[in-house]
Amino acid sequence: MPITEFDIIARFFTRKATRTQEVVLSIGDDAAVVRSPAGYDTVIAIDTLNAGIHFPHDTAPADIGYKALAVNLSDMAAMGAIPAWFTLALSLPDADETWLAQFSDGMFTLANQYQLDLIGGDTTRGPLSVTIQIGGWVKPDQYLPRAGAHFGDRVYVSGTLGDAAAGLSFLQQHRHDNILQPLITRLHRPMPRVELGQKLVTVANACIDISDGLTADLGHILRASGVGARIRQSAIPISSALRESGFDPAAILQHALHGGDDYELCFTVPTAKLQQLESLRNKLDCPITEIGEITQTPGLQLVSASGDEISIMPQGFQHF
Ligand code: ADP
Ligand code: MG
Repeated sequence: MPITEFDIIARFFTRKATRTQEVVLSIGDDAAVVRSPAGYDTVIAIDTLNAGIHFPHDTAPADIGYKALAVNLSDMAAMGAIPAWFTLALSLPDADETWLAQFSDGMFTLANQYQLDLIGGDTTRGPLSVTIQIGGWVKPDQYLPRAGAHFGDRVYVSGTLGDAAAGLSFLQQHRHDNILQPLITRLHRPMPRVELGQKLVTVANACIDISDGLTADLGHILRASGVGARIRQSAIPISSALRESGFDPAAILQHALHGGDDYELCFTVPTAKLQQLESLRNKLDCPITEIGEITQTPGLQLVSASGDEISIMPQGFQHF
């Protein structure tokens, strides 16, 4: 007997709610009902992963499940929100139970880390596509906007840049050497910076997650804020895995500046709050690096290793 739509929902997606205070009604009715904790606003984001566009067709199902949730958690991180619940719209070419079990395992592995409840969704037949909508909470007006950067702010990024893009290019070359595994893992299992985002709400003026590439995403902050930035090439954090990957320095820089899928945070901090950032730094589980500053003149300038200032155009991923 082929598995039905309702079996799929019951077996692979229905789990006991962990946020019993907040999730009033979960999977099984026409819609879910959630209750924001007293004194919080609701933050909502949605992101789709399409097979062949956002992940290679041969990606492991557990990685697809993990990443679909991770990219949404990253949007919560970029807002400084506390994630709480998500919904899942799944389009599947067929009802493959092994695939579904692995996909669901990957997704719930990450959901459990943040005590997130899957509260509803939709299951349809079609080309493989995963849409997750996520919800969370912020204290009133304590979210991290793109539009808050000011002249004089310092620009920071978390973690290291370029790893995921380098990992993708290795996969496309069908290279799977062990030494490249950390880069490929970063592509398939991004680490959303949820704790960092929450801690930045009282420190940063502006924040974005780097999904399309540093130049593209910092560019969004700059345009939204009506400012520019100068960043130093020598300051851009590169992992040892990427340094030792065999790419030439120009290709490494290209990945770090313009490569997508790292899901690090890029944020700006006013000089008056640098002290606060320093004390925060010691409590953080991820490195943060100052890469430049916000300027009055619009546009993005890169100070090269030799000290020349060059204007750079955003080159991140765009669908159309
Ligand atoms: P409706 O016909 O009202 O749209 P569905 O038959 O699509 O309801 O879904 C039945 C219930 O299962 C709903 O509560 C819906 O939110 C939930 N659901 C459907 N697909 C999924 C999924 N992939 N993940 C989680 N919940 C789902
Ligand atoms: Mg439905």
